Amino acid sequence: METADRTAPAAVIVAIDGPAGTGKSSTSKAVAGKLGLGYLDTGAQYRAITWWMLTNGIDVNDPVAVADACVKPVIVSGTDPAAPTITVDGLDAAGPIRSAEVTAAVSAVSAVPELRAVITDLQRTIAAEAPHGIVVEGRDIGITVLPDADLKIFLTASPEARAARRNGELKGTNAQQATDLAATREALIKRDAADSSRKTSPLAKADDAVEVDTTDLTLDQVIECVVTLIEGVSAEKAGRDIR
Ligand code: C5P
Repeated sequence: METADRTAPAAVIVAIDGPAGTGKSSTSKAVAGKLGLGYLDTGAQYRAITWWMLTNGIDVNDPVAVADACVKPVIVSGTDPAAPTITVDGLDAAGPIRSAEVTAAVSAVSAVPELRAVITDLQRTIAAEAPHGIVVEGRDIGITVLPDADLKIFLTASPEARAARRNGELKGTNAQQATDLAATREALIKRDAADSSRKTSPLAKADDAVEVDTTDLTLDQVIECVVTLIEGVSAEKAGRDIR
């Protein structure tokens, strides 16, 4: 792991949730790197299992088929924020999980309760084994996966800001996708609606989460805000530990 320029005095578990395009991944990775914490991108895990379903001919719109198959692939996440990795059955999945095909299918796959149970178990194990604490980002971390997290943050931003950011990210990989801001906005809104309305563990803000609206903030400002929040809870925890 890269040397942290600041350190959290006590190991902390941080849950960062929010819809797509709010800066969750960039913020979580940077914050974890600065404070010497691990980093887990749970969206990458749902994307990885979706990629496996697609490449193995499983009908992603058939919840029974998805539930039957979901125990088969072995998903491994590397938690170094400087170089996070994701493999499926030993194959590097980092590239393919960002394809338009996976993005279009992931909400249907991740709505299947049996599959969520498998991935949730995996996430809890990774968090419990993180030696210096961890930042876990996703949609249901604060409410379902790690309800006892030391700190919960819910990132939001206007649909326009989220679409503009996501378009910027896509530019390098697919120029055609990047030209259509309105289409990106519609796709994000559709995916958020699916993620927010599913029965099992929908995207939602925990009552005890700190909400940060990133619409008018730079990435550096969001990172500084989250680092300050983590340092606060970490110092409080360190104080409790020595009392
Ligand atoms: O974060 P990202 O946009 O890569 O997530 C991809 C998809 O994975 C989401 O749209 C959602 O369907 C699913 N997901 C989830 N629960 C999480 C993280 C992601 O259902 N904790």
